[in-house]
Amino acid sequence: MSELSDLYQEVILDHNKNPRNFRDIADADKTADGKNPLCGDALRVYVSLENDKVKDVAFKGSGCAISKASASMMTQVIKGKSKQEIEVLFDEFHKMVTGELDIESDENNLGKLKIFAGVLEFPARVKCASLSWHTLHAALNDEQEISTE
Ligand code: ZN
Repeated sequence: MSELSDLYQEVILDHNKNPRNFRDIADADKTADGKNPLCGDALRVYVSLENDKVKDVAFKGSGCAISKASASMMTQVIKGKSKQEIEVLFDEFHKMVTGELDIESDENNLGKLKIFAGVLEFPARVKCASLSWHTLHAALNDEQEISTE
């Protein structure tokens, strides 16, 4: 677990310092605002779709390192994916950070997102890690805003 923790630290720091797809999309098909009042994280997710797949995705906002890193990695991972594929990832990610899915023994599609299993050690951070996913989920389901509370 400590190896994963080191990698976790490294990845979080990298994405926090240099978030990917940190911009807006002027003509986005879907947008939603997500808030995590417990930590003060607030972000907006932008999605452009083409043939039901994510053509482009971006985010903006402010928050702690974990919320930002998670949003940054999410945008990298979901580009090109269909809504159904994203639903599967959303579900698996949620189960991973709440301890319902064991990344070692349970089959999953999480790939490099497995790094966020590290938040299990920090229960207060679970909502930070999942905020961008809840916000994306809201955007794809035509909800304009969500709060993790
Ligand atoms: Zn946070």
